[in-house]
Amino acid sequence: MIDLRSDTITQPTPAMREAIAHAPVGDDVFGDDPTVNELEAYVARLLGKAAAVYMPSGTMTNEVALRVHTEPGDEIILESEAHIYYYEGGGPAALSGVMCKLIKGRKGIFTAEDLTRSLWPEDFHFPKTKLVCLENTHNRGGGRIFPLSTIEEIAQVCREHDLRLHLDGARLWNACLAASISESTYAAPFDTVSVCFSKGLGAPIGSALVGSKEHIHRARRFRKLLGGGMRQAGMIAAGALYALRHHRNRLQDDHINAKLLAEGIAQIEGIDIDPDDVQTNIVVFHTQTMPAQTLAQQLGEQGVAVLAVGPNSLRAVTNLMVNREQIQQVPVRVESVLRSHPAKVS
Ligand SMILES: *Cc1c(COP(=O)(O)O)cnc(C)c1O
Repeated sequence: MIDLRSDTITQPTPAMREAIAHAPVGDDVFGDDPTVNELEAYVARLLGKAAAVYMPSGTMTNEVALRVHTEPGDEIILESEAHIYYYEGGGPAALSGVMCKLIKGRKGIFTAEDLTRSLWPEDFHFPKTKLVCLENTHNRGGGRIFPLSTIEEIAQVCREHDLRLHLDGARLWNACLAASISESTYAAPFDTVSVCFSKGLGAPIGSALVGSKEHIHRARRFRKLLGGGMRQAGMIAAGALYALRHHRNRLQDDHINAKLLAEGIAQIEGIDIDPDDVQTNIVVFHTQTMPAQTLAQQLGEQGVAVLAVGPNSLRAVTNLMVNREQIQQVPVRVESVLRSHPAKVS
């Protein structure tokens, strides 16, 4: 199977399994796990922040961040298709009791002007806005990179209005590589940043939240409250540490493969995609006739797994389990599915 459903399907490599097998461990709830401590120190340094805390998932790091920055009844501002709003099970309402105000972006990106326009005037009738969340790269935006200059302008608006700024950086590694911007430069405008090790980096489990000592101290309390305090967590943190040290640069292969895939399927009649929209490892494309669900299912029968993400939209995510030769097979199979099911003439 050429599995392009997500970069989360990646499995640990033999070398990563070796690192996991030999990792020293301890009880991390007591702060005793040397591997978790090493991972947290490494990721904090890489992102240029004072502290980091390891958690089981990116959903938990995001949701803990919201709770760190808000009290029930507060408002947060985020893009209308943000992962935090779209894919976290209603967490902002259930876990932090916050209102979500949505800004409609362009492929996930909005500007400082969009933010300024969305702010309430100072008046006790309105909810108290505390936090702005950005996503880089933007998942439903098709792996779109958030331009650093736009982030800096948004951060300036946040400072002027006493708002905190959180980054959902599940795929920050991809943005850094594609834009040639360091992790610490991209993280600098933010109070907290969530990063995932279990996406394109290929570690089996885990994410980290980074920020100031005070914010991360408070985050540890909410991680515990949510049941995210883990014991010999070095067993999984070792995979994350290995991935950080050895797999960041290989994301370039995924980006090249995504571009090749986009250029290949752009030639096919019945498929709509602009290869210039593909900036990292996510390829979103549209069907002109066949419903997305049907194409996904038929492609599955041809040995290519992709996800339908809308009535006419599909998503393919390149990853370390899929090589160049396999990617070159995908347009061939898409074309064969579409050709064997010609559009009905009405
Ligand atoms: C995957 C992802 C997350 C976190 O997902 P988990 O599966 O909970 O680790 C958060 N934000 C974005 C943009 C993501 O793509």
